[in-house]
Amino acid sequence: MRVVFLGTSSATPTPQRFLPSVALMRQGDIFLLDCGEGSQIRFRRAGLRFSRLRWLLVSHMHGDHITGLLGLLMSLQMAERTAPLEIAGPVGLQDYILTNRRLLRTEFGYELRFTELTEPFEVVYDGPDFRLEAARLDHRLSTYGYALAEKPLPGRFQAEVAAELGVPFGPLCGRLQRGEAVTLDDGRVVLPEQVLGPSRPGRRVVYVTDTRPCPGGVLLAESADLLIHEATFGADLADEARVKKHSTTREAAEVARLAGARHLVLTHFSPRYVDLEALRAEAAELFEPVDVAWDLREFVLEPVP
Ligand SMILES: [Zn+2]
Ligand SMILES: [Zn+2]
Repeated sequence: MRVVFLGTSSATPTPQRFLPSVALMRQGDIFLLDCGEGSQIRFRRAGLRFSRLRWLLVSHMHGDHITGLLGLLMSLQMAERTAPLEIAGPVGLQDYILTNRRLLRTEFGYELRFTELTEPFEVVYDGPDFRLEAARLDHRLSTYGYALAEKPLPGRFQAEVAAELGVPFGPLCGRLQRGEAVTLDDGRVVLPEQVLGPSRPGRRVVYVTDTRPCPGGVLLAESADLLIHEATFGADLADEARVKKHSTTREAAEVARLAGARHLVLTHFSPRYVDLEALRAEAAELFEPVDVAWDLREFVLEPVP
């Protein structure tokens, strides 16, 4: 899995930073988290392909997170997309997109499949090898954070154990590896758990913005391999963060610590900040490892060993 930050500013773009958007790549599929103005430009600059886009996950209906949506959807149309596009977000997102489509007198030749979120916690998608979770955050309007959680992988096949049990090398090994029981020529049954090591946990990538520190954020962030958390303000602006319902560097670090996350990446910085290292250092007093995102910065999650 790979994460590329397409925009890392809050409220308004700066010469260095576009508005919020993060691309998550997994096995050839792209999940786009928020779509601030101009995200499609960064998307191309990052070398990503529109045809790979499967999911749009929208945190909330503040302009800085959604003003890039229509442009992106129109570019998909111009690229002659036919594959459906899954879109999840708070109530109002569907109306926003369809109203714009109507007023712009445009049509999309591909299906938009909407999931509007209403519950404190929802499983947006549950597939064979991963699921998408959403949890309500604490912002000025309905806002959701997201987790992409891979399902546990089966344990490694232990060839020497299989040989000791008399399993011949060949197709029977493959069936055991896939979790099926097999019957040997002498009638004995060998179960997969006899020859597989312990199951291996999948990876978890979590996106939490915009929000105060809150239970929904901590719930999603639990044991995250990568936690992307907003840090709109430095620690000295804690009062402003409280009033505007955002988080400071230290508050983001505290969420990562409480949740037992493995790696924290801060984003959604107020345009006033130029020196991001000072923000990183504030968070690092409470939690490590922590990094700051910048536009087109990439993080790679290693495969499960
Ligand atoms: Zn924002
Ligand atoms: Zn907001």
